[in-house]
Amino acid sequence: MADTDFDVVVLGGGTGGYTAAIRAAQLDRRTAVVEAAKLGGTCLHIGCIPTKALLETSGLYHKLRERREEFGIRAADVALDYERLAARRDAVVNQLWKGVQGLMRKNRIEVVQGCGTLEGDGRVRVGDRTIQAGAIIVATGSSPRSLPGLEFDGERIVSSDHATLARTLPASVAIIGAGAVGVEFATFYRQMGAEVTLVEALDRLVPLEDEEVSRALLQAFQRLGIDCRIGARVEGARVERGRVVLQLAGGEVRAEQLLVAVGRGPNSAGIGLERAGVEVDERGVVRVDEWMRTSAPGVWAIGDVVGGFQLAHAAAHEGVVAAEDIAGRRVVPMEQELVTRCTYSTPEIASVGLTEAQARDRGHEVRAGKFPFVANARAIIHGETAGFAKLVADARTGQLLGAHVIGVQATELIGEPALARLFQGDAWEVGRNIHPHPTLSEAIGEAALAVDGVALNV
Ligand code: NAD
Repeated sequence: MADTDFDVVVLGGGTGGYTAAIRAAQLDRRTAVVEAAKLGGTCLHIGCIPTKALLETSGLYHKLRERREEFGIRAADVALDYERLAARRDAVVNQLWKGVQGLMRKNRIEVVQGCGTLEGDGRVRVGDRTIQAGAIIVATGSSPRSLPGLEFDGERIVSSDHATLARTLPASVAIIGAGAVGVEFATFYRQMGAEVTLVEALDRLVPLEDEEVSRALLQAFQRLGIDCRIGARVEGARVERGRVVLQLAGGEVRAEQLLVAVGRGPNSAGIGLERAGVEVDERGVVRVDEWMRTSAPGVWAIGDVVGGFQLAHAAAHEGVVAAEDIAGRRVVPMEQELVTRCTYSTPEIASVGLTEAQARDRGHEVRAGKFPFVANARAIIHGETAGFAKLVADARTGQLLGAHVIGVQATELIGEPALARLFQGDAWEVGRNIHPHPTLSEAIGEAALAVDGVALNV
């Protein structure tokens, strides 16, 4: 084999890619990351981070405007300053971006700026430089998809990229798709005071979640004043006198802006995958095994480009698995069922493992335990009592199969049942964990007790 410039070259410096590089460097591999835009990728620059900064303000604004007196605060006026909001969003991103750059220096990872392509036999081309790699990790991510006939123009018909980076707020928005992107932006725009119509083709919001979660979100969204159209068929859209007219099977929706949030497609075209012998499926998703190995020896792939849950933390974990495999230090393979899913709508949604329906489909005799936040002291103190925690267990063995939380700070609560699943724990063990009082985490413990019908505070 030819002399290598690096032991590991990672194509794409998003959360998955830079984490893979750090793990490879920790394992004494000489490592480089090739990045065409900015280290941190979608998650840091146009995804998870800036959108959560937006939601932080919208939640605060909404609460102050609607409920300040209930909380004992008197103020004559609560007004928005979108410029300041945008500046704070950008400052949060920049602080973290500097952090990632520092991590690359600390771990002696070379960052090669430019668009990399695979040339076969471990070669990566970036501009006029050819790099010889011992192993390659493809971590090129994904991009928003649109629908046929609905081209993004960045102004009237927008993707989450445009919505995230906007410097103004539309007065009315129609959103197609009630997955994570759709429901997070529906929350944001509505809390900021916009008119929001949310259009979903399937018969429930967040269709990948447990059905009871979908029902609870629909109720909460209707209370918030979001016009939810489920089971709706989109027939087209046109721009008419500066407004978007969205045609549905049963009528029209008019709005200042249309956000199309119907999923993301892999960035796998034009990077030389065919040349390197890397197989992709009919959607362009790179096929990998549980160690993130592609069909081509010496090439691994991780993150959104391999499909699965398309979540930053899943990508990062896959990066760790790939780097350890490359270094001959396998620990545990990637297991999709252990990936926590988090959606930062209001109320928040988080889950891990099987839904109740999936557990039944797999032949489990299911026992589910549920505890409502209305019976949780901390939720009452927060003034946020919508939702519940639900644990799904096997009725015969007691094994925890899944956890589903909808409610305030659900995304912070899911770590505990996820750990219990990693430890292959039983529901009763989660119930025996001594939860601090008063905290929202008590709802997890109570839901675990409810599996055996012995919840204490309901
Ligand atoms: P998604 O696949 O999660 O949801 C898309 C939704 O659009 C689905 O509910 C689907 O039924 C619906 N849809 C598709 N075609 C439609 C049509 N013609 N008319 C009406 N509805 C239609 O995709 P997304 O929300 O765009 O998110 C993309 C990826 O990014 C997902 O994997 C998501 O999990 C991830 N993401 C995660 C977070 C988070 O974890 N907080 C936030 C944003 C995005």
